[in-house]
Amino acid sequence: MRKWRGTISFAERHIVLDGDPFRIKDRPQMRIPAEVIDAALGGTVILMMPPQRGKTLLAQLRLARNVSIEPRRALWYSKTQIDARSLSDAKLKPLLESTKPVQSVSFDDPDKRGRGLLFRFHGGPIELLSADVVSHRNSRSGSEIYLDEAWQYDHRCISEIFMRGDGYGWNRRQVIPTTAPDAGHELDVLWERSTKHEWHMTCPDCKKPFLPELSDKMTPYEAVTSDDGRYNVEATAASVELLTPCCEKRWKYSPQVLKAMNNEEDGAGYRQTNLNPSPRVHGFRFNVLSTDPWEEVIAEWLRALNAKRGGDPSQVREFKIKKMCVAWDPAKERKPTGEIEVGPYSLGEPWDQEAKDENGRPYRFMTVDVQRNHFWAVVRSHAVGGSSRLVDRSKLLTPHEIAAFADRHGVLRNEWYEQRTPSGQWVKLCESRVFLDSKYSTGGLVPRICSEHGFHAFYSYKRNAFKHSDGIHRIYDEGRMIDPFSGTSRAEEAGKRVLQFYFVADAAKDRMEILRAQIGADGIPMWTASQDCGDEYKSQMLAEAKVKTFGSDGHTYEYKWKRLQPDNHYFDCETMQIVCASMAGLIVGEEVSEVEEKR
Ligand SMILES: [Zn+2]
Repeated sequence: MRKWRGTISFAERHIVLDGDPFRIKDRPQMRIPAEVIDAALGGTVILMMPPQRGKTLLAQLRLARNVSIEPRRALWYSKTQIDARSLSDAKLKPLLESTKPVQSVSFDDPDKRGRGLLFRFHGGPIELLSADVVSHRNSRSGSEIYLDEAWQYDHRCISEIFMRGDGYGWNRRQVIPTTAPDAGHELDVLWERSTKHEWHMTCPDCKKPFLPELSDKMTPYEAVTSDDGRYNVEATAASVELLTPCCEKRWKYSPQVLKAMNNEEDGAGYRQTNLNPSPRVHGFRFNVLSTDPWEEVIAEWLRALNAKRGGDPSQVREFKIKKMCVAWDPAKERKPTGEIEVGPYSLGEPWDQEAKDENGRPYRFMTVDVQRNHFWAVVRSHAVGGSSRLVDRSKLLTPHEIAAFADRHGVLRNEWYEQRTPSGQWVKLCESRVFLDSKYSTGGLVPRICSEHGFHAFYSYKRNAFKHSDGIHRIYDEGRMIDPFSGTSRAEEAGKRVLQFYFVADAAKDRMEILRAQIGADGIPMWTASQDCGDEYKSQMLAEAKVKTFGSDGHTYEYKWKRLQPDNHYFDCETMQIVCASMAGLIVGEEVSEVEEKR
């Protein structure tokens, strides 16, 4: 009989990482969770921790230990097959192959060892699966189940994996190494039912424990900002201190101070913060303030705030879920609606901050919502950095009125030029800052109007982001050339092509909401309407809101954009304006990662 050994003692004895033997004292936040996983027969352990801090490693160490000491069938879920493959190649395979006791239980015949996403050993295999694949979720069985980065899984996937009808039931372990999810996600609901053990640091003076958090009170800094209100990241971050709530003493970061604050003999460590958890659901959480230099933490936070100021909320969300490990709740970032932001100006008034292109033409866009027999149009001018002002808005009856409205307000359109397509064909395209929504137009009406008057077409599309040919994900796609007379007897007339741009409406709405809540360097909200914008415009701008929407289980929820009244045309026009400003590079931080933008 082999002697029973825990994951940590196994790892300290057998694991070498980058040339150094594994030592738990280098990772104090991992010790207790490792012991709880070892003892959690029939339970679930959530490791809600920042990336690269050892949570996935801990789960893999447990796998290596099992293979060597206590073989059992294990399933490891990643979100996608690609994630599973890269985990296998980059981490798990090298770890298992370099661990001596694992080698001794491997099959001598390489054909029996399994390959790719299956590792076979005497006693029990490890299977790498994808949470996105239905058959992986409910037709595999195992006594240990790992759900890596479960915050990314689609709705109900965690429950489906948990509810599998195999024979292991009561003695199965479920381990979830992950960062934080969106508020209302299945994982968020599960976390709230767990023990919620939070890592507390300790005051080096009085040894009182405290929960490290990013706040004006606990992590004060001297803001250094430029004229446009953006943080000078390095200068501001260098001033950060941590104020211990017990003694109200300010501490500058040093490796020694951080070590003292994480000293378990002085009172640092996990404390259970949910005293009525569900049975056998353990949760452990810490954030980067207990592991990283505070200047680096604050610098990343300030960069996210700068991007938010420019209308891109995605970095703030990413920072909160990944670095602070708190669920992202957009409702907490939002101010109450019911008013629209009005600036000290009138329709058509010149604005000295309006951005100009390299030819000196103003960045003034016109966006048009297309109805069956009429149109709604908004002209807005934009400054570098995300500020903008309403120039005019109107209900229009004909395409000619659209063109006249654009010309009256100096909006660029109808400047045709020739271009060679990738297939070698010469076509005519136009430069234009007038965009018509073509989503609901029938019979190719919008492309024909665009061709006649020199406009572009927009098309809102339900997805998370578009990957461009430079590899970057954005909230709009690269333009598609469409033949406005395709399918008619006038096909190919004059070689004219209309550019159509797909975009993610919900992401644009999120950005607009952020800009409506930001105050610019001039003390005025970054997004405003004019004082004389009118009741119709105001009422339509309040026609949509993000509301909490519960799933059919009654527990999980999401925030979704919802139309509150039928006439939301100006709101749609303004949403498209945000896309225009993003395309022109006036809104910063336009790069989005496909997974992050998921909603
Ligand atoms: Zn103290």
